Amino acid sequence: MLNTVSGYSRAMYSNWFWHRSLQLVVDAGEGLPLALGTNVFAPVTVAITHGHSDHVLGLPGFAGARRFGKGATTKPWTVVYPAGIAAIDTLRATITGLWRGVEFPITWTPIVPGGRIPLNGGRTLEAFAVTHVPPEPALGYRVVEGRRRLKPEFADLPQAQVEHLARRDGRAALMESFEHVVFAHSGDAMPIAPDLVRGADLLVHDATFLDATDRRELIHATSAEALEVARLAQVRTLVLSHLSIRYQRPDALLRLREQITASGFTGQCFLLDDDRFIDLAVI
Ligand SMILES: [Zn+2]
Repeated sequence: MLNTVSGYSRAMYSNWFWHRSLQLVVDAGEGLPLALGTNVFAPVTVAITHGHSDHVLGLPGFAGARRFGKGATTKPWTVVYPAGIAAIDTLRATITGLWRGVEFPITWTPIVPGGRIPLNGGRTLEAFAVTHVPPEPALGYRVVEGRRRLKPEFADLPQAQVEHLARRDGRAALMESFEHVVFAHSGDAMPIAPDLVRGADLLVHDATFLDATDRRELIHATSAEALEVARLAQVRTLVLSHLSIRYQRPDALLRLREQITASGFTGQCFLLDDDRFIDLAVI
């Protein structure tokens, strides 16, 4: 699962997540172009969750590296961002001001909750509302792909009976379309609704706090809340991110492992801490 992703997460400093097979970057904190290196030309879509500096300040550097680096400098790319955030206007002005008269092959696309953008392979990027720091809008994103499955009323029948019905009524009568969640990212957020990410292959979720008593404002999730979202949604792989730097890491890892055991979540679970994906199932 994690062989197709890389990322960086340090709350207040820099956050970004690169999903290679989707050609999608979520958030663009400082260091993004440096970390991508020769892959800087690979992303097609950069989806911004909200306008805080640790999520957007890598954007001018990314634009510059793509425009003036050695590679596909004219390859188009799209920045998707919450409609109405001021940060994007500022960053666009920065890019224009740094490189006067230079054209960038960027499509700037404001999006609102429920808005959808096509990705590669017939997949779709969909924005959803999250609770972060009102009144500035903040979004999470999920990537869905269309799939077919047996209708629920046939799902538990013996195979022989399904084959019989398929011969009698045609296979199409037994099947239904659904949207499978390949990937989802909460951005900075309070816990998201599990229904948004049901059955997701990979969920990246805010886990700023190890303990709800450390939280003064309701703008970030706890690790236990993120685990509960993943358990309820039956997510396959959960990546906890944005863990506050107030916590000493060796102690934090012990506490996270205890929380996983207590949560009943049975999928894979990692902590993204700086650029490391720490497997929390491994003691
Ligand atoms: Zn934030």
